[in-house]
Amino acid sequence: MTTSREIRLAARPRGMPQPSDFELAEVELPEPGEGEVLIRNAFVSVDPYMRGRMNDVKSYVPPFQLGEPLTGGAVGQVVASKNPQWPEGTWVVHNLGWREAAVSDGSGLLPVDPSLAPVSTALGVLGMPGLTAYVGLLDIGRPQEGETVFVSGAAGAVGSAAGQIAKLKGCRVIGSAGTQDKVAWVRELGFDEVFDYHETDTREALREGIDVYFDNVGGSTLEAAIGAMRTRGRVVACGAISQYNATELPPGPRNLFLVVTRRLRIEGFIVSDHYDRFPDFLADMGGWVREGKVRYRETIVEGIENTPAAFIGLLQGDNIGKMLVKVGPEP
Ligand code: NDP
Repeated sequence: MTTSREIRLAARPRGMPQPSDFELAEVELPEPGEGEVLIRNAFVSVDPYMRGRMNDVKSYVPPFQLGEPLTGGAVGQVVASKNPQWPEGTWVVHNLGWREAAVSDGSGLLPVDPSLAPVSTALGVLGMPGLTAYVGLLDIGRPQEGETVFVSGAAGAVGSAAGQIAKLKGCRVIGSAGTQDKVAWVRELGFDEVFDYHETDTREALREGIDVYFDNVGGSTLEAAIGAMRTRGRVVACGAISQYNATELPPGPRNLFLVVTRRLRIEGFIVSDHYDRFPDFLADMGGWVREGKVRYRETIVEGIENTPAAFIGLLQGDNIGKMLVKVGPEP
C-alpha cells in the first residue's frame, strides 16, 4: 500500500451535514519510521458525537479542523511495523478515523483478537458504544432487579446494548425507536415493550412509571421521561441526538421541578472517563455475546468515499444497530 484515501472536513455544517461539507483526498503513505506501524483499515466508525466536533466550539474534545482528515474509531491490521509491540499481522482498534490506511506511532492502539468475534464488533457491541451502554446503565443508572428501565434510541448501537443488559439484570425494559422495522427487531431482543415514537405519544407509553431512563435523544422524550419518573428515579444522560443538528436550541424540559419533588438524579457521563472499566466490560459483554444473551446488528456501508453519506444516514436514522463503513479486507 503506497496511497490511502481519506475524508476531510471541507466546511462546518449548519444544521444537518451535507455531502459538500466533506471532501475525499488521496495521500501518499509514508514508510513507517522507528516505533511506527502502518495500519490498513477494515472498518471505520461513524458516531453521533462526531457531529459536535464539526462545530467550532469548546467541548470535552477539541473541534475537527477544516481541511484535516476526520479522526475517530477504526479497526485495521498492522501491515508494516517498526514497533515490536505491534508486529505485522496484529489487528488493532485506533482513533485515526476516516481513512483507508494510517501510520501510527503506536499510542492509543488497542489489540483485537479476530478469533473471538468479528473485528467490526470492536467498534460496536464490544467497543466504545458497548462500553457506553455498560457503564451508563450499570454505574450511572444502577438499576435494581424488578425496576422499570426506559431506553430511547433502542435500535441503535448503544440503546440496543443498554436495554439487553437491563433485561439481564432482571429489569422490565421499555424501548423507543423510529421505524416499525426497528421496533420489531428491538422486540426480538427481548424488550418488554417497544414503541415507534413517531406514532405513539411517549408520555402515554410511559404512563405506568419508570425508575431509570437511559437517554440517548434528549428533547421532548427527556421531558416525557422525567414526567414518568417514580420517586428516586435516575436519568442516565448519555446523549441528545434530537438536538445535534439544531441551529437554535429547543427549550429545556419544562418539568425540572419534579427532580426536587420526586428526589430524582440526572447524571451525565462521557465514556472516555471510564476506560478503567474496559476489562470488566469485555469479560461480561464478551461472555454475553458469545452465549447469545446480548445480540447485536450492524448496518454496513461500503467504501471510504461513502463515509459522509453513512454519517448523514446515521443522523437521519438509516441504521439498525451500529453504523459502520467497510473500507478494506476483513480477517
Ligand atoms: P445510534 O446507533 O443510536 O444511531 C443514532 C440514532 O439516533 C438513529 O439511528 C436514530 O434512530 C436516532 N435519532 C436520530 N435523530 C433522532 C431524533 N430527532 N429523535 C430521536 N432519535 C433520533 O447511535 P449510537 O448508539 O452510537 O449513539 C446513541 C447516543 O449515545 C447518541 O446520543 C450519542 O451521542 C450517545 N453517546 C454518548 C456517549 C457518551 O460518552 N456519553 C458515547 C457514545 C454515544 P431512530 O430511527 O430510532 O430515530
